[in-house]
This record gives sequence, structure tokens and C-alpha cells, in this order.
Amino acid sequence: MSNRPQHAPLTQFPVVDDALQIGGMPVTQLAAQVGQTPFYAYERAAMTRRVAELRALLPDGVSIHYAMKANPMPAVVDHMAGLVDGLDVASLGELQTALGSGMAAAEISFAGPGKADKELRGAVGAGITLNIESAGELERLVRIGETLGIAPRVAVRVNPDFELKSSGMKMSGGPKPFGIDAEQVPQVLERIATSGVHFRGLHIFSGSQNLKPDSLIEAQDATFELAYRLAEVAPSALETLNIGGGFGIPYFPGEQRLDLAPVSDNLGARLAECRQRLGEVEVVIELGRYLVAEAGVYVCEVIDKKQSRGTTYLVTNGGLHHHLAASGNFGQVIRKNYPVITAHRVAFGPRELVSVVGPLCTPLDILGEKMELGQAEVGELIVVLQSGAYGYSASPHFFLGHPAPLQVLV
Ligand SMILES: *Cc1c(COP(=O)(O)O)cnc(C)c1O
Repeated sequence: MSNRPQHAPLTQFPVVDDALQIGGMPVTQLAAQVGQTPFYAYERAAMTRRVAELRALLPDGVSIHYAMKANPMPAVVDHMAGLVDGLDVASLGELQTALGSGMAAAEISFAGPGKADKELRGAVGAGITLNIESAGELERLVRIGETLGIAPRVAVRVNPDFELKSSGMKMSGGPKPFGIDAEQVPQVLERIATSGVHFRGLHIFSGSQNLKPDSLIEAQDATFELAYRLAEVAPSALETLNIGGGFGIPYFPGEQRLDLAPVSDNLGARLAECRQRLGEVEVVIELGRYLVAEAGVYVCEVIDKKQSRGTTYLVTNGGLHHHLAASGNFGQVIRKNYPVITAHRVAFGPRELVSVVGPLCTPLDILGEKMELGQAEVGELIVVLQSGAYGYSASPHFFLGHPAPLQVLV
């Protein structure tokens, strides 16, 4: 083996006789059950375990919400609804799935810039909490509430005056389409006081995909400080304080698993202080990928194997049209490899240096570039790990007109 950076050890799925097991069976058997490749498979047990481990680690009294945009498959959402304390949606479609899961409306919130009137109406009708993202959105919401004769339940999404450092995706600090700039929030809170809406609290989300405990701690501290400042000018006591999430998972070579222990310790201290300063507010963290990404795989099949000027290509029937993120085209600046393995040769047997590509006529259609994999031949299965979030629903399925993959929950 070379001494290039390696992927963090991935232990969420057992390996028996060198074959990866998903849902208690080898991937080859699962593929037979599904009936086609490519497919996504998400494992209930892995999600259940992840939420249980997180609860054991986090201080008592923190609510965990699942941000559905990470994986909105209804069966997944139904499963997650039984594990977490609430669901965060970002569209009317996701709202219907959330309501269908049986999650109580009081535990569902809706964030996202550019909510259309029909989305605001749907949310008010359902009785969920809307995280408003502009003064204009608040005015549209007030009118809709009056028309329906229902007081909208409103939290203010704040665009913080700080950022979450070292994040895969920065979503705060500076000008942003998300939320209301912290310095404008007092004015909006003043308007809320006389608008007839039900004020629920604050939503402060500063970023995503973070693997650095120090950065998360710094952002958490700044989040609570900002919340204390804004609570002083709020129309009523905060019922809820959503402090965002941002917990990342290791995707790429050289990345280490996030050590949550110091983050949790800090949160415990902050929580005690928060109770002192704000009373019985429900503190919520909202997580997408951290809860589901590692529980999912994308499975495709080798269609052709060829040599080109010293490079061995495994050409598969899966690619960027199904899994944009693994191809490196969903927010990556420099393309890096997701963890990819040969389904029946995880760690032993002959290895080969290969590039795994898809069937699309574009050089962007790469699933793994120059990776050392267990030898794979035509008809055998390749597995992309860490694929339970931002996979199926975040990919351009229509591009080139190949059939869509299936999704199964096992
Ligand atoms: C996308 C998003 C999340 C989920 O992010 P993850 O990185 O998947 O945890 C949570 N909250 C908001 C507001 C988001 O936009």
C-alpha cells in the first residue's frame, strides 16, 4: 500500500468472508433481492445505532431534529421519525412526507429561503413552525394567517454575525440568502410583537459538514451569546432555540471521524447556563448527514473493464446522474474520492489500481479515481459508502436518460 492519505476506517457494516453485509446479508444477495443495479440501500439498524450513540453522548435535554433534505425517502423519514424529537423540512413536498411519518406538527419546522405563499399556507394549515428568513416573508405570512384565521407559529432564522470555521459548506457570516442578518433581527422581533403571530424562538444555523471540534465549540458559544442578546428584545420568552448542527462525517482520504466528546461537554455547560438565562427553552440541534449518511450505500455493477494508456477503468452502470456528490460535482472544489469498495473483496484477495467511472459521455462521470480496490470483473458489484445523504435526491437523474436507480430501506 502507498502512504497516501487513507479513508477513515468505516465500521458501520460488518464484513463476512470479505463480503460487505447490508441489512444482514451480502451485498450480492441484496442486489438479487432488489432486482436491479444500480440501487441505494439504507440500513435501519445503522440509523438506529447512530441516534442511540448520539443520545448517549449528548447532554440530557438536547432535542435532536432530523433535517430531511439529507435523505427524504419516505421510508427513511418514517424510521427516523421514531428515533428523533422532530423533523426539519425545506419544501411543501418534504412537509407532506414529514406529516405522513406521524411526527407531531408541533415538532416540525420549515426553513428555507424563498418560501412560496402556497408553502406558507401549507405550513400554517398544518400548524408547524416556520423559520422566517426575511421581513417580507413575515409580512406575507401575517396576511396568510389572517386569511386562514390561524396564528402562524414563527421562529426567526438568524444569519449570524459569525461563521462556522472549517465547514464543508458555509451558511452564515457575511451576506447570505439564508435567514435575517443578526443586526436586523431586533426590528423584526419588534414587528412580530404586534403582528398576531405566535412567536416560538430562534433558529441559528451556521454551517455544515464540520469535522473540527474546536470550530463547532466556537460556533456554539457564539450561537448562545447571540441568542441571549436577541432574547432580550424578543416579544416573549423563547420556547425553542435551534442552535443548528453541522456535525460532519469522514468522506475523503485523510479525514478523521469527528470527536464529539468535547463538543458535548461544552454543550452541557452552555445548556446549564442557558436554562439560567432563558428559562425552560427547548434547545434543538438539527442534523442531516450525521444521522443517515453512513447508513447508506450506492451499489452499481461493472459493465466493462478496459485499459487506456496505463490506466485500468472499471466502467459501471452507476455514475454522477445517480450520485452527483460521489463524482465530486456537489460542492467540492478539488475532486476527492468517496470510500469505494468491491462488494465481495473488501480487504483481502488481489488488489488493483483502477479508476471507476460511469456510463455518461462526460469526463465528470467519475466515482473513484486511481483507487486500490479488490479486483472486480464485469458483472461484479462496486459499492460507494457514505451515501445515505445527498445522494439519490441530490442528483440529476434525467441527465443522459439512463434509468433511475432504486432505493431500498433494509
Ligand atoms: C442542510 C441543512 C441542514 C442539514 O445539514 P447536514 O450537513 O446534512 O447536517 C440542517 N439545517 C439547515 C437549515 C440546512 O439548510
